[in-house]
Amino acid sequence: MAKIRLINTRHQPFLAVEYHDIVCRRRNRCDCQTSQRMNEKNKAVIKRHCASFHVPAMGKSKELDREVLHLQSVWNAVKSGWLAVKELEAPEALPVIEEPKEAKKKASKPTKSA
Ligand SMILES: [Zn+2]
Repeated sequence: MAKIRLINTRHQPFLAVEYHDIVCRRRNRCDCQTSQRMNEKNKAVIKRHCASFHVPAMGKSKELDREVLHLQSVWNAVKSGWLAVKELEAPEALPVIEEPKEAKKKASKPTKSA
């Protein structure tokens, strides 16, 4: 599995979300943490805490699976120059982003914060 690091070139932290829907599915492996608790009927309920990551302002991310480049927000940030990609293993061509089939209308567009 190819690993990359993302480098933030701006004075603005970058936060990636929707990690599970895209990254876990693509690599067929889920690293998201889960927790288990009992509901009122004493049945075990598993709750997933969808993984996410952030890149601190002017900093760099932890080691990430290359699949994070499929996150629209990450890809947009790379294209705009906000994030730089550092390959940690054998480099390959950047992936072509395909629109997710079940595109969610909300939550995918980053909102501008004042
Ligand atoms: Zn997951």
